[in-house]
Amino acid sequence: MTDLTANLDRLAPLLRQFRESGVGNHIAGQRSQATSGTHFTNTSPVDETEICAVARSGEDEIDAAARAAKAAFPDWRNLEGASRKAVLHQIADAIEARADDIAVLESWDTGQPIRFMAKAALRGAENFRFFADRAPAARDGHALPSPTLMNVTTRVPIGPVGVITPWNTPFMLSTWKIAPALAAGCTVVHKPAEFSPLTASLLVEICEAAGLPPGVLNVVQGLGEEAGRALTEHPDIRAIAFVGESKTGSAIMRQGADTLKRVHFELGGKNPVLVFDDADLDRALDAAIFMIYSLNGERCTSSSRLLVQSSIADDFLAKLTARVENLKVGHPLDPATEIGPLIHATHLSKVAGYFDTARREGAAIAAGGTVPEGPGHYVAPTLFTKATNDMAIARDEIFGPVLTAIPFDTEEDAIRIANDTAYGLTAYVWTNDLTRALRVTDRIEAGMIWVNSENVRHLPTPFGGVKASGIGRDGGDWSFEFYMEQKHIGFATGPHKIPKLGQG
Ligand code: NAD
Repeated sequence: MTDLTANLDRLAPLLRQFRESGVGNHIAGQRSQATSGTHFTNTSPVDETEICAVARSGEDEIDAAARAAKAAFPDWRNLEGASRKAVLHQIADAIEARADDIAVLESWDTGQPIRFMAKAALRGAENFRFFADRAPAARDGHALPSPTLMNVTTRVPIGPVGVITPWNTPFMLSTWKIAPALAAGCTVVHKPAEFSPLTASLLVEICEAAGLPPGVLNVVQGLGEEAGRALTEHPDIRAIAFVGESKTGSAIMRQGADTLKRVHFELGGKNPVLVFDDADLDRALDAAIFMIYSLNGERCTSSSRLLVQSSIADDFLAKLTARVENLKVGHPLDPATEIGPLIHATHLSKVAGYFDTARREGAAIAAGGTVPEGPGHYVAPTLFTKATNDMAIARDEIFGPVLTAIPFDTEEDAIRIANDTAYGLTAYVWTNDLTRALRVTDRIEAGMIWVNSENVRHLPTPFGGVKASGIGRDGGDWSFEFYMEQKHIGFATGPHKIPKLGQG
């Protein structure tokens, strides 16, 4: 990712292709447009220009994709694990070979700075490799002998599954769901977010060129209420892996009720970072800034509430303010840029709306709080101080580069405030007192907690949230637990006594 000009040069021919062909569906190995012929327009958050037309699909296209996934399922399921492993590694190789193309497209489509997107494609490849290596053992089970039976368990893939993804880091998140599903032996229908359709259409082409059989991965573009809804209601789709907003998760649960869908939800967050006065404050400052201002703050694991001990708050917040004011807002394809434009005009007005909310609620705006002149959906990185946890700026997931700082006095206060939220995805604790770290992490309601660290993902560990932040876990074997069914088989080891009915 050398410089802005080189990145724009790399992007230009890719955009030309998309402009000419539009973004269509990919079903049973074939590219197609929506059968109704309708489309919607995808624009770049950078300068609001049109990128391309995108197929606006609905029930018909979802039905065709679900049928394709169903037809491809037996062969893919029956393929030896070692062969699935080989195909998935070939896909990882192919993603790595296109990593720079994926990175510039993702930046242009989402507004995410290239400094982060450059690694997103490589992390996508790593997801394929990690689950590829686990494919051969995915079906392994237990032997649980009883006095009369040899009981064994094995796992079998659940069937065709639906994957519905959001617009923040769409490529990486899609691979995070699709790779374990394929490794488990499931086939997939993917419905990408309407605001960021480009890299999903690239991914399926990369997969098939690398040897994935047609129909194993299908992509249907469209709106959530149309294509997304149809996918969650389709009877041939056995499970839905969903990443997105909490309220969409509730809707999907309702929509999937009639067909008894198994669901896996990775939802929103309002994650606290707790900074105690005994912590390494310089490192805490770096991590707190990174976890809310990287990826434009459009990040489910962002530390959007800073709980800072009153005894150090003034000094900590002064240093924080200076750093926030110094963040480099700019073109996302410029490697120097730290904050790019937000995904969409509607999202910009949602985020910017909280500036007025903060003023109305009586918080102070220590940094930012402004919307620069367009074009582009830019917002100044913002820090709210003098906030309390009952304010909307402390309760709502704003999903932008916006941090709400709340002081606390005691450890007990910190835990109470941290848990006083509808969400429970992550928490970050900064303290050098080991016993405090043990107490606090034990009592915080969150699926993932890091102590003296920013979020560092390790693929074998469980990823997911509690409360309104989600249901289920990804990572390690937890992903296979979702995409596979446990099966028990009991073999009689001898002529044990069988109750005789109907003999008088
Ligand atoms: P969203 O819920 O609006 O949309 C996500 C996807 O769901 C899109 O593809 C959309 O088209 C689809 N969808 C919308 N309505 C639907 C319906 N009725 N039926 C089926 N599908 C439907 O979310 P978003 O705005 O795209 O993404 C941001 C959200 O995602 C934030 O809340 C963020 O915290 C969350 N997120 C969570 C994680 C996590 O791991 N917990 C990771 C990334 C993002």
